[in-house]
Amino acid sequence: NRQIVVAELPKGELTPANFKMTEIPMPEPAEGEVLLRVILMSIDAANRSWMQGATYRAAVKAGDAMPTYAICEVTASNSSRLKAGDVVAAEATWSDYVTMPAHKVEKLPKVPTLSNLMSVFGIAGKTAYHGLMSVGQPQPGETVLVSAAAGSVGGYVGQIAKSLGCRVVGIAGGQEKCDWVMEQFGFDACIDYRADGLFKALRAACPEGVDVYFDNVGGVILETALNLMNERGRVVCCGAISQYQSTAPVGPRNLPGAIVVKRLRMEGFIVMDWAHNDATAIRAMRGMMERGQLKVTEDIVEGLENAPAALIGLLGGDNKGKRMVRVSAD
Ligand code: NDP
Repeated sequence: NRQIVVAELPKGELTPANFKMTEIPMPEPAEGEVLLRVILMSIDAANRSWMQGATYRAAVKAGDAMPTYAICEVTASNSSRLKAGDVVAAEATWSDYVTMPAHKVEKLPKVPTLSNLMSVFGIAGKTAYHGLMSVGQPQPGETVLVSAAAGSVGGYVGQIAKSLGCRVVGIAGGQEKCDWVMEQFGFDACIDYRADGLFKALRAACPEGVDVYFDNVGGVILETALNLMNERGRVVCCGAISQYQSTAPVGPRNLPGAIVVKRLRMEGFIVMDWAHNDATAIRAMRGMMERGQLKVTEDIVEGLENAPAALIGLLGGDNKGKRMVRVSAD
């Protein structure tokens, strides 16, 4: 049973040396517990932010196994709630096998493509749907701007906004990614933040200003977006990936001025806050898929041993769509 632990907390950019593969005994499920074989692990920008200190969950420290949202199969059960063969979602670790109290795992429905429970019907899709619909509240005809547009959350945000009749503009790293976002997801425009002149390019792409900015990155891009907001615009604070590796985080310099003058609403959220609306989100996105309005993009890296590289790569932008690691077969 392999397990990847944090060998040393990163100072700045994450590197392979921050992780160590270890061999641990096969765990035995105690009374009320289940033994889980990990199938798919979600690779999230949040993995890096947990290493910065306590957030909405406890900090990840040196010596800890890296926590992960995972899809697993029950291989042995000491609980009447679950039986061997059940497929569940769990807060596991980067491991081949883990044990968990049965009441802490969620039994998953049978679906044709298991990885969809990680992407469109998982954290990525739900984060996009809840953040956009409940926090951003876009109206038809409004302009929605979204950063990390080629990533898992950003791609769904844009496609959902498009289906509502909004003008949708993305921000992504590199022209090739921007072209892909427009072609793959039907965005009206996508701007390369690594090129010079971000403000001018965004102003040209959003001739009527921005009504909803879905912020996945924070920092300078957030500051630029704030300057383009319309009166009574909504800024959906989903994440700040541009700051997760920084030893000297920067925030927008035009606060609170922009918020006061433009009467903006800037609101953070955590996907779990909206769990009571998950069924609505899944129904809506399934309908969009059936109508051909939602493309599901998944970026699956093979092998537990490749999890550190998968996370380092995600932070550097080498993913398109929802990144996950396949640890074992469905
Ligand atoms: P993504 O699949 O969106 O991948 C992250 C992308 O971020 C990369 O592909 C990269 O694309 C972009 N990126 C990396 N560094 C920078 C930078 N310095 N400036 C701008 N863009 C950058 O990852 P996730 O889906 O895991 O996360 C997306 C965001 O959503 C994160 O901020 C995350 O913390 C947040 N999140 C929030 C949740 C919530 O409940 N609030 C739940 C889940 C995620 P590029 O090539 O374009 O740079």
